[in-house]
Amino acid sequence: MLIDTLKPHHVLAIVAHPDDIEYYCGGTIKKWTQSGVTVAFVVVTSGDKGSQDIHADIDHLIRVREQEQRDSGRVLGVEDITFLRYPDSELSFVDHKVLRGAFVRHIRRTKPDVIFTHDPFVRFKRQHADHRVVGRLALDAAFPIATVAQCYREQIVDEGLSPWQPGDALLFGTDAPTYISDISATLAVKQQALLTHQSQQSAFDGGMAERLRWRAQTIGSPHGLSAAEEFLHVQLGVSLPNKEQS
Ligand SMILES: [Zn+2]
Repeated sequence: MLIDTLKPHHVLAIVAHPDDIEYYCGGTIKKWTQSGVTVAFVVVTSGDKGSQDIHADIDHLIRVREQEQRDSGRVLGVEDITFLRYPDSELSFVDHKVLRGAFVRHIRRTKPDVIFTHDPFVRFKRQHADHRVVGRLALDAAFPIATVAQCYREQIVDEGLSPWQPGDALLFGTDAPTYISDISATLAVKQQALLTHQSQQSAFDGGMAERLRWRAQTIGSPHGLSAAEEFLHVQLGVSLPNKEQS
């Protein structure tokens, strides 16, 4: 198990829904922004299915959820947030080449050392279909597509972007964690950030702050940590000195 071995300068989190970041990696993001790391978010949908009220004003819901995400970003120290505004819970049916191209664009624009996204390989845990789609396409974008100049070449020719290879991916919602991040110092901020998503409080079924604390404690305690987040680590960049990856 790797524990806090990554020391990035630039980080990009690509997620399906508002509030995914806070739940899965908010503590690690706050820890890193506090130490000067720049972090950007790409949020694929604006959570337009996130209401049990069958008569809900969907345009209003989208505005509320995007504002909650921006407010939460401020709590976590993140201003660079892009909403792609795809339809919630329908990502299996949208144009994946276009969606992957959006991920490539933001990788080339923000030049991250580390990418956060959903683990698309989950076998033994339930998973939202949007998470599976976003994780797979984000991982594909991060290796090798973003680094191949002839892929989405219009981004390079017309938009002035350059190929970029992120070094590592941290995949969350995983059933096979290999990387632990100590969030003992930032758990309270993670709780605060998730609670910023007030429109989702009924879905959270109350007690979310306590649930987050219990979860972080459960992950951390085998490693002597009072609170932690867990990820599946995937090395994307060239591994030196023996360059065995291809
Ligand atoms: Zn989600």
